[in-house]
Amino acid sequence: MKNSLEHAYDPENFRAEGHKLVDFLADKLKQAMSGEHDFVLEWTEPDEAYAQLDTFLDNPNELFERTWQQCIRLHDPRFMGHQISPPLPIAALAGLFSDFVNNGMGIYEMGVAGTAMERFVVKTVARQIGFDEHADGVMTSGGSLGNLTALLAARSRKAKTDVWNVGTQEPLSVMVSDQAHYCIDRAVRMMGWGSEGVIMVPTEDFRMRTDLLEAKLKTARANGRDVIAVIGSACCTSTGTFDDLVEIGKFCERHDLWFHVDGAHGGASMFSKKYRHLVDGIETADSVVMDFHKLLMTPAVTTALLFRDGNAAYQSFSQQAHYLWNEAETPEWFNLAKRTFECTKTMMSLKVFSIIAKHGLDIFDENVTRLHDLAAEFAELIQTQPDLELATEPQTNIVCFRYVGDESNRIPLANLSEVNRRIRYVMMTAGRNYLVQTTLGDELWLRTTIANPFTSRKHFDDLFKELRSVATTILADVS
Ligand SMILES: *Cc1c(COP(=O)(O)O)cnc(C)c1O
Repeated sequence: MKNSLEHAYDPENFRAEGHKLVDFLADKLKQAMSGEHDFVLEWTEPDEAYAQLDTFLDNPNELFERTWQQCIRLHDPRFMGHQISPPLPIAALAGLFSDFVNNGMGIYEMGVAGTAMERFVVKTVARQIGFDEHADGVMTSGGSLGNLTALLAARSRKAKTDVWNVGTQEPLSVMVSDQAHYCIDRAVRMMGWGSEGVIMVPTEDFRMRTDLLEAKLKTARANGRDVIAVIGSACCTSTGTFDDLVEIGKFCERHDLWFHVDGAHGGASMFSKKYRHLVDGIETADSVVMDFHKLLMTPAVTTALLFRDGNAAYQSFSQQAHYLWNEAETPEWFNLAKRTFECTKTMMSLKVFSIIAKHGLDIFDENVTRLHDLAAEFAELIQTQPDLELATEPQTNIVCFRYVGDESNRIPLANLSEVNRRIRYVMMTAGRNYLVQTTLGDELWLRTTIANPFTSRKHFDDLFKELRSVATTILADVS
């Protein structure tokens, strides 16, 4: 009889369970892609999900089957909710491999393969941006952390005082559109710059009004703020609208400000020949964040953080510039933790590298282009239906719209948010289609992200059909 640790590590058990799990997931993938099942999400109330874990513990051999029941299914073409990709099978397998070898990546010998691959991925993204050979960067755990890390480098480069050593002396600020992701505000407050640390630039059609930048800067300076950076959203999260990166770049150049592009979502457009123009100007940025898990079929979280001047990457967590370092303390590109907040980090580079190795870089173009095209088609369909209203022309794969009632029976403006909130909740808990919601101004809108390349016209029609049927029930309830 083996003791329990020996049993737990038993290679033959691993082999048998691994084969079983891959077979199970392959069946689920087939099912999802063929649309031969009922639900994209089998809704469970939080307390119930927690209570059910007792049955999980009593049935360890059914652990993955039971867990699957409570997982939202990204490979189902009816998944049109949040900004996350159905991962490619090869990338999911890379994830398994990475979890198994558990190479910590912080220092070189703890991740030889992963470190070389990270350099490859970073250089690939740099080329795609249009940066020259001075560019460099790292991979990090999510766009939020990437944005913070970029802003720390910006602070090192642009603040007048040595904040790293003496603490914040000056009232530092960044300028960003009022549609920016909340993580920017959070990063700024974490750095101790307070609520005034973010200067909101108003938007028009969800796009930063770059014509207001000069005036905003003047006012901020008059108020004693030391503005060090402007952040362009590429794109903003709510509607997927892109800021004018060319104009922001020129403004930053003129005023010697750091230009950061939050391309967590839409930075991926750089891989699409057809949609590359959305990020025109990105090559003038000082730093760029781009998530692989949102549009590029990579498991979460996998983020690239790029610096036009690669030396800046070494300044996020130190005031010292790498060009000042002597030989005893070289930049050492291969010791990645010098440039990341993480000490131990997952081998995320393998996930991206496996996609490029197996399918070629062009698969990113194919996916991004297809998803953008699908979103445009979806938006056009919305515009032909009088009971639906499109919030704004989509630029990426994010489409916001709402149900407004048929022409003979318009829902009063004051009730629109509540009706749409209820439509969305009923649809989510029914689990046959999945979409989300967002607030634009003070109003609640339905929000979709066309994340699955196999979503098609049929799924759009099914979504509209269910939406109308739910709306009818809700409206009958109200009256
Ligand atoms: C998703 C998103 C983020 C946050 O990225 P995570 O990878 O979820 O941390 C930041 N900015 C924008 C514009 C985003 O769309």
